[in-house]
Amino acid sequence: MIEVSAETGFVIYLAAAMVAIIGIWLYQHKKGKAKEIICLPTKTYICEFCSTQYLAEVVKPFTRCPECHSLNKNIYVKNNQKKPL
Ligand SMILES: [Zn+2]
Repeated sequence: MIEVSAETGFVIYLAAAMVAIIGIWLYQHKKGKAKEIICLPTKTYICEFCSTQYLAEVVKPFTRCPECHSLNKNIYVKNNQKKPL
């Protein structure tokens, strides 16, 4: 059996704790990099019913107003000018 003094045991304990902490940190760091944030293009829309301006994704044919929750056609505002119908 290997004889270990109290100081050596304490140093081994600290080294093992440091290795565990660095290992967890590296795992979380790699896991965080794997996530990719996908931002869909958005435009500013005006609700046909309550005239509230809101942001919504361009790919949807209809958007829901966050104020009155009614569905609107995908008519978006470009440079703060309402697109003619
Ligand atoms: Zn509305």
